[in-house]
This record gives sequence, structure tokens and C-alpha cells, in this order.
Amino acid sequence: MIGIVIVSHSRKLAEGVLELAGQMTRGAVPMEAVGGIDDPDNPIGTDPMQVLAAIESVAGQAEGGVLVVMDLGSALMSAETALDFLDEAVRAKVRLCAAPLVEGTVAAAVQAATGASLGEADAEAATALEVKIHQLAPVTGTASPTGPASVPVSAPTDAPATTPTDAPATTPTDAAATAPTDGMSAALAPAPTSLPHEAARLELVIANKLGLHARPAANLVATAGKFRADIRLHKGDKSANAKSINQVALLAVKNGDAVAVTVSGPDAAEAVAALAALHKDHFGERDEDILAAPATAPETPCATTGDGAITATPASGGYAVGPAAVHEARLPEVSRRDTADPEAEIRALDQAIATARAAIGALRQEAERASGPAGAGIFTVHDLILGDGAMREAAVARITGEHCDAAYAWSQAVAAMATAYAGLDDAYMRARAADVSDCGGRVLRILAGEGEGGIRLTGEAVVVAHDLTPSDVAGLDAGLVRGLVTEVGGATSHAAILARSLGIPAVIGAAGCLGRIADGQVIALDGFTGTVWTAPEAALRADIAAKRTAWQAAGREAKARGAAPAVTRDGLAVPVWANIGQPADAAKALAGGAEGVGLFRTEFLFQDRDRAPDEQEQYEAYLAAAKAMEGRPVIIRTLDIGGDKPIKYLDMPREANPFLGQRGVRFCLARPELFRSQLRALLRAAAEADIRIMYPMIADVAELEGVLAFQARVRQELAGEGRAVAGRVKTGIMIEVPSAVAMADKLASRCDFFSIGTNDLTQYALAADRGNAAVATLCDSLHPAVLRLIGQACRAAAAAGIAVGMCGELAGDSRATPLLLGLGLTELSMSAPAIATVKEAVRAADRGACRALAAKAMDAPSAAAVRQLL
Ligand code: PEP
Ligand code: MG
Repeated sequence: MIGIVIVSHSRKLAEGVLELAGQMTRGAVPMEAVGGIDDPDNPIGTDPMQVLAAIESVAGQAEGGVLVVMDLGSALMSAETALDFLDEAVRAKVRLCAAPLVEGTVAAAVQAATGASLGEADAEAATALEVKIHQLAPVTGTASPTGPASVPVSAPTDAPATTPTDAPATTPTDAAATAPTDGMSAALAPAPTSLPHEAARLELVIANKLGLHARPAANLVATAGKFRADIRLHKGDKSANAKSINQVALLAVKNGDAVAVTVSGPDAAEAVAALAALHKDHFGERDEDILAAPATAPETPCATTGDGAITATPASGGYAVGPAAVHEARLPEVSRRDTADPEAEIRALDQAIATARAAIGALRQEAERASGPAGAGIFTVHDLILGDGAMREAAVARITGEHCDAAYAWSQAVAAMATAYAGLDDAYMRARAADVSDCGGRVLRILAGEGEGGIRLTGEAVVVAHDLTPSDVAGLDAGLVRGLVTEVGGATSHAAILARSLGIPAVIGAAGCLGRIADGQVIALDGFTGTVWTAPEAALRADIAAKRTAWQAAGREAKARGAAPAVTRDGLAVPVWANIGQPADAAKALAGGAEGVGLFRTEFLFQDRDRAPDEQEQYEAYLAAAKAMEGRPVIIRTLDIGGDKPIKYLDMPREANPFLGQRGVRFCLARPELFRSQLRALLRAAAEADIRIMYPMIADVAELEGVLAFQARVRQELAGEGRAVAGRVKTGIMIEVPSAVAMADKLASRCDFFSIGTNDLTQYALAADRGNAAVATLCDSLHPAVLRLIGQACRAAAAAGIAVGMCGELAGDSRATPLLLGLGLTELSMSAPAIATVKEAVRAADRGACRALAAKAMDAPSAAAVRQLL
């Protein structure tokens, strides 16, 4: 891996750039920032000796060399001077980069994280500014300085239409070969429709709210960079090298865009699997960054086809046929009244807001239960809108200024806020206008003395409306609503999101449909294609009804199979659990069929914030996860930080080999206060739910005894305070260090369960850094060396009579399931999306055959030979 030194006249600027690039690469690339001079009165400048020290320090951590990125003027001179002082051998591996500081550093760092060479990172940095130039050129009218850039990438429809026949016969490899340093040429090359060496092609729809913006793009590039295969990303007639952050950025992939990934080369199959998993994981973004875009572009224009059907935006898949229930949205009529008592009006307003927020809280709980966090999150937004105070302040100002009544003042404030949202450029933000009107209308109805709004269905029906609010959708009787059709709105509206999470077929944006549909008229809809038939013939009705029956049956079957236990053909029930990173993931895990949580990585609670969560916050988070699992067991792992998971505010030691340093329990034992508050939270939560404690990175018997003694002391302390503490908490350890396998018999007699962490066990067994692309082929969990260690740990657990599970990535690979069962694993824990397929693999397995397979695999000479067996 190469490293980077950032040189600026301003220390703050250098550190800011370091922070940005570090976030993009999650600390994977050795980097240092230098800036400013040692003169309190005039701190702006650069010091060659500081640059020298930084280069030497980074060179010590980066065997591939050091790229120095500078701002301007004397920064270049300081860097050149520093080079003169460097040892000849080091200087040979240092390169000064001509790229602009911010863009260049980010591009070079992302490239470096893929294992790129000094030259490759430098070349990538050199084109970094092109992304911005291309993005702004159509707006400013400024032509790009480079030839190919004259085609505006951000406006692909302007590009000349390319049909398969006029696509040049150029493979991606050729394109890269003819223009190795010109990222733009490759980025703008028309996408070939078939590739001579293409091994696989993935068609993906991007659900990330902001598309493939910096962070997800960096994750895509980092994943692609782990493979030797040529990987291309195609959008429309453009293609990009998926290992180039600039090229990926230039494709300007937005939410809802359909893209294709083509992969060709030696490790194509593995690359495809990794990229598919990354897409499933929304390129590493969190739930709130995802819009669950429909399978086609979000804002399909409404069109009427020849057979009279209306086509609009397919907002939620499924079929429906039935009588229409036409809904007319109506806010209470408000006419302005004068008041002599503004204070009383303000009190009435506050009371109405409080009542509305309480109702929203109840709706949120209901939505969480029915449709998980996506549905519930909508009501969190409503609560935030009402709790924010902006509309209240506007209404109060009007009440006191004009001496008018609360309802009128509030209606004006809501209208102004909704108008402000509706005028925004961004489609997603525009859609929030409906949310403002929805929750604002709720308060208004209370002020006007009207009951809940909502749609009352008297029989099964397809609801047809000009627009629907999230409250309308959430309040529908699930037993009666067959589908939804609206005249306005896009797939990003919360009503559409709710419909998807509730599984109600919906077509949104069917302009003019109200003029063609009367209450009670039988209509049909296909939520997959976005089609509404306003007067379907009998044959079409029968066809859609049959499709609905089949769709519902398939949904029931998938759900039932996902939730049902996994039992091998010879009768062993294998609990299949989920790995989670925060409480909100638990509901998703449960919906995916998880029978428990096998790994709650608590370090995620500590990341992306300024200080550690306190005991109470942790207690609530652990309990929330357990409650979401509705009584099923939840294994919570104590903090596993260090290694590749540094936490900025914890002032962690700088270590030459962090994976071999103060990581996991080693770090926690060195920070007793941090450890103590986590264990207090865990033991308190375990008194109220089936929570189990797991310790990471146990390498030694004394270490296990140390943490158990610590746990016992914390328990005594809580008991002494009269707190409720669980009688006995099941306590286990991760088996992820080879020494723990060697000592497994001794460890097994001191704890309740093992959970094998193949991610670390593999890297430590094979001495191959799990984050280093250069050794990725060696760092393979299917290596027979790793399988032998797993087998040994399983035997020790069986001899001691304790459970042995696996929560490393290998557990989620359904191809490996028979092998893992054969090695003796009795529980498996993985990311939620993998659960259904792994359960199917368990159901297909017979342990006799599994054991024979495991024996052969442990006897194989290589990971490749094991793969052949699988
Ligand atoms: C592992 O090492 O396999 C594991 C599950 O832990 P993590 O990936 O969090 O280090
Ligand atoms: Mg681990």
C-alpha cells in the first residue's frame, strides 16, 4: 500500500483534508498532514523539516511509497527541499503530486485504498479536477479543457444516441489500454453491449438517496479494487472503470438510476458476489440514506396507452383489481377570527401540537410493528417537523401581532412552510412538502375540533386520490385496501415509501385519473409496471386477479420459509441468527427470518459522534435491540475497537501494527471506565431480556479470566446499588485469534459459548491483513488452514458441551453451509439478507455427507481446491 502526505500553508486545512480523505478510506491508507510554521504571530507557511518528518513517518508504514500532495507556492519548495534530505532509498519511492490539494488527495487516497501503485494513485489524482469541471460545465457554460470532456456527462440524454451496432468494437480492457492515464476517455467511452471476455453482468438499480456520491462511490471503488478482474460500471451509453473514483463520479449515478456492472477476468465470480453484496448493503450507506427506489426510474412521466390504460410511476409492486374508493382530501375550512386573548390561542395551539405529536408517536409504533424502520421513520420526520418550532414560532408571531385565532395562524404557517419546500430544486426535498401539510393538517383538525382525518373503507377497494399523505396510508385498514392510485407524487414521497413497506401495490402520479374513475368503478392496477386500467374488460380483470393470487401466495411462501426454522435433512435444527450494528437493524433482521442476534457489533454505537454514549444510552440501545427481537436471544459483543476501527475521540494509541496492538478486550481492559460503563449497561439490560455477552479478540486464558473477573466486579457493584441485575448472563467469546484455537479446551471450560470470527481468524492464521488488497487472495476463509482451525475449535466446544457458532462473513456464504455443518458448527450468524438462502442450504444438507465434505476440505491443499469441492 502507498501512503500520502498532505502539505498546506494552513495546519487546519491540511488536517481537514486528512479528515475528509480518512473518512473516505476508513483509515485504511497511511496519511499524515503537515501545515503551518512554528510562529504564533504568523503561523501560515510550510516547513521543509516537518514535511521531511511526515514523509519519513508515512514511508515507514507504506511499503509502496509516498505521494506528497501540496497546496501552492512554498509548499512545493518545502516538499522539494524535504526530498533533498531524504535517504536515497526512501526518496526513490516518493512522488510529488501536481493535483489540487482537496480533490487530488481524496482521489489518490481512494485509489490507494484499492492497493494502487504510486503511479496509479498519482494519475488518478491528476484527473481529479475533471469531475468538478464536468459537473459544472453545463451550468456555467464553461467548456472543459480536455477533448472528451466536451460531452456533458451529467446530461447523458444530450449525448449522441448509441445503438448496439454503432458501438465501437472496443472492450473495456482495450479502452483502458489505449488511454491508461486519461480517466476521461474511458469514462466517456460508449458502453459496449457485449464484451468478448465478459464473465458476468449485474443489472442494478441505485437506491442511495444521493446516488453514488462520494462515500458510496469510494466503497464501490475500494471493493472493485480488491479484484484482478476488469470491472466496468455502465450507465446509459457511458461507462467507467469501477476502480477509478473519478470515472465513477463522472458517471453521476443518481437515485433510481439503472446501471450495469460488467466483470471479466480471473476472479470475476468473486468480484460479482462482492459487488452484489455491496449493492445489497447500499454501498455501505445507512437506512436513512436510502430511498428504496422502485425498480424503474422514479419519476416516470404519466402516459396513456392505446388500450386506455394509464401508465405512471410504479411505486410499489403487486397487483390489484376491485372497486375504486375515491378519496377527496380536505383540510378543515379555516376563516380568520379576531381574538382578545392571544395567550389562550397560543395555549390552544401548544395543546394541539402536543396532542398531534402524541398521535404521531402512536402511529410510529404501529408502523414500526407493521413495516419496520422504513415506515416508522416517516413519522419520526413528522414529529421533527412539529417539534422543530419553526411553524409554531411563525404562528405565534401572527397570533400576537394580528390578534388572530390559532387555527388561522397555524394554517398560514403550514402553507408557507409547504410552499417553501415545494419550491426547492431537489425532488426528494420537494416531496417533503406533503409531509409538512400532513402533520400540519393534523394539528389544524385538532384546533378546528374535527376528529382524525383518514380514509374509512367499507369494503375491499383500490383507493384513488389526488394525493395521499403518509397518515392516510398508515391509517388504511390493511384487510380492506387492495391498492393505491394517486394523481400526483413521486416514488420518493413518504406515502409511496409506506406503501412499499406495507406491501400495498401502488401507482403514483397517474395524472388525470380522477376524471376517469368514479367511486365504485372497478379498476385494475399493476404496481410493477405502473399501469392502471380504468375500465378493464372481464378477461383483463381475471388475468390481474390471477396474478394477484399468485403474487400473494409467493409472498406468503417466501415469508414463511424465511421465518421457519432451518432443520437439516437428518433432523438437526440449526439456529440462523443475524449480525447487527445498531438497534434499528434488529427489526430488519427479524423480518429477514433471524431467530436471534448472533453478533451486535457495539462499536457502531460509538462511531460517527463526538463522545462515547453513556451508560444509560447504551442500556437503552441494547434493550431496544432485544425488544425488537421479541424475546429471541441477542448476543452483544463488547467494544471491538482498534485495528481497522479507530475511534477518533478516544485518543487511541498510535501503533505500528494496530491489528496486533491494543484491540478489542485489550483496549477495554486498558480503559476500565469505558469498559465499566458498557458492562453496567449490558448487565442492567440483561436483567430485562435474553441478552448474552461476548468478548472479542480473546487470545489467552488469563485475558478471559481478566474480563470475567471485571464482569463479576461490575455485577457486584450494581447489586450493591440495589439495581436489578440478571441472575446469570450467558457469556461467551469470539474465537478469532489462532492462539484461542490452540487453547480452546481451556477457554471452553471457562465460558458458555464460542462464536468463530472467520474475518480475523483468517487474517491472523495466514498473516494476511484483511484490508490489504495485495494479499486478498491469500486472506481466504476457505483456506484449509482456517478450516482446520475451525474444526479444532468445534471439537473443543463439543467436548466441553458448549455451543459453537460462527459470526464471521463465511457464515453467510450459503455455498459453504454444508462444509460448516460438517466441521461441527451448531449456530450461524450473518447479515440479514443472507439468512433465507443459508436456511435453504441448511434444509438441503445431510450431516453425514457434510462431515465427509469437511474431511475432504481439511485435507485439500488450497482454498481453490476447497472451492472446487463446494
Ligand atoms: C470476525 O472477525 O469474523 C468478526 C465477526 O468480527 P469483526 O469482523 O467485527 O472483526
Ligand atoms: Mg473480528
